[in-house]
Amino acid sequence: MKMNLLALSRSIHPKDNKNTVGMAAIPLTGFSKVTIPLNMQIGPGCEAIVAKGDQVEIGQPLGKPIGPWSVPVHASVSGQVASISEEILSDGSHAEYVTIIPDGLDTVSPLVKPPQIETKEDFIKAIRDSGLVGLGGAAFPTHVKLDPPADRPVDTLVVNAAECEPYITSDCLICNNGAPEVVEGILATCKWVGFDRVIIGIEDNKMESAKALKAAARAVKDDPRWPRDGISVKVLKTAYPTGAEKVLIRLLNGRIVPEGGLPCDIGVVVHNVSTLHFLARYLKTGMPLVTKVITLDGSAVATPGNFEVPMGAMIEEVIEKAGGTKTTPGKIIMGGPMMGIAVDDMTRPIVKHNNAILIFDEKEAELPEESACILCGRCIRACPMRLLPMSIDKAARGLDVKELNARHVQTCIECGSCSYVCPAKRYLVQNIRNGKALVEAAAASTEKGGKS
Ligand code: SF4
Ligand code: SF4
Repeated sequence: MKMNLLALSRSIHPKDNKNTVGMAAIPLTGFSKVTIPLNMQIGPGCEAIVAKGDQVEIGQPLGKPIGPWSVPVHASVSGQVASISEEILSDGSHAEYVTIIPDGLDTVSPLVKPPQIETKEDFIKAIRDSGLVGLGGAAFPTHVKLDPPADRPVDTLVVNAAECEPYITSDCLICNNGAPEVVEGILATCKWVGFDRVIIGIEDNKMESAKALKAAARAVKDDPRWPRDGISVKVLKTAYPTGAEKVLIRLLNGRIVPEGGLPCDIGVVVHNVSTLHFLARYLKTGMPLVTKVITLDGSAVATPGNFEVPMGAMIEEVIEKAGGTKTTPGKIIMGGPMMGIAVDDMTRPIVKHNNAILIFDEKEAELPEESACILCGRCIRACPMRLLPMSIDKAARGLDVKELNARHVQTCIECGSCSYVCPAKRYLVQNIRNGKALVEAAAASTEKGGKS
């Protein structure tokens, strides 16, 4: 039975800790090496087209796509390829890494030039060639989003400027300093994909950004690419998880993504502001996705700030160049504190969808002890997807695939709101993730059995 996902507006209010708001992005350079994964996206990545010993230049492709969803990966520094190796990632999966020792010359590849675009196909190809994936954290390939199947026409572009995760301010920075480029990215997308309307969603704790986006949109309202129903900026009440794709769509235009479906099923495409900002720059310069603006913050960071770093830079070197730590790190998170991923190794590289590194001291990193569920229902009231987190948790612990399916485990967006509010400190989201993996494994095994 399909679930009716009504009232996706339940939310929580964690302290926003936007300590770095208004801080300009400081470029960090002079890294001793960069280690660039050939898969930094949802779906299969690339296969290497360079070999150990090759000289490479900034913007030169290192890997070629191996499937329709794959996007290329490019060198973020000039230098020599030191190795191509297989590494195990934090989540246990494997990926091929290209390690480059920079020569310090920052030579840009002659392949870097603005794309020539005359048709929608040229536009989609250019977006793919740029290596662009969703920069808000999902890493969904942008060219796939912009070219939905013919039976699912899209009319609305939702621009996600909510940045509802605590600490992170990199999108806010892009809106404050680069709103005209965000709007240029929107107009280019409207021209080639043909949206009727664009709605930018932003929270009311970023009014300066909202003003900048409104002014940038007003300035181009006579542009021939202006969508039929216009570009509007909607200011939403600050709450978590406003920026989760399905929640944002519901809040901005009332449409509900069906269970197991995608926004294009209801005529919507969602892009993050940083994705559109990059897109505009790429169309102008042809420089593919080789750097990322990240927020560095947390109780163990000596000098929190926003930094622009080359793709593949090691976390430990980024931290060192940004001012180091002021106490022993207890926990390092890639992304925000609610949905980010804990990093097991400081030599992990910065990747395309990484928008923050948060480092907390040992005290803050202590895991609270779980106690028994007291059936208070707070997790239910906090869940934006109207799930029963404590029931899913129980089913996941009991390895009960049938019950997990009955409780719609795959509808969970892993926002962490249930864990945040639970007075018993139950490890809800961790168990829900395990439950999802169980359901996927059971489905894969059924499919395999059916084919044999
Ligand atoms: S919030 Fe925690 S204690 Fe309350 S019902 Fe949910 S799991 Fe149980
Ligand atoms: S993590 Fe999943 S179950 Fe928990 S509140 Fe978020 S959507 Fe609901």
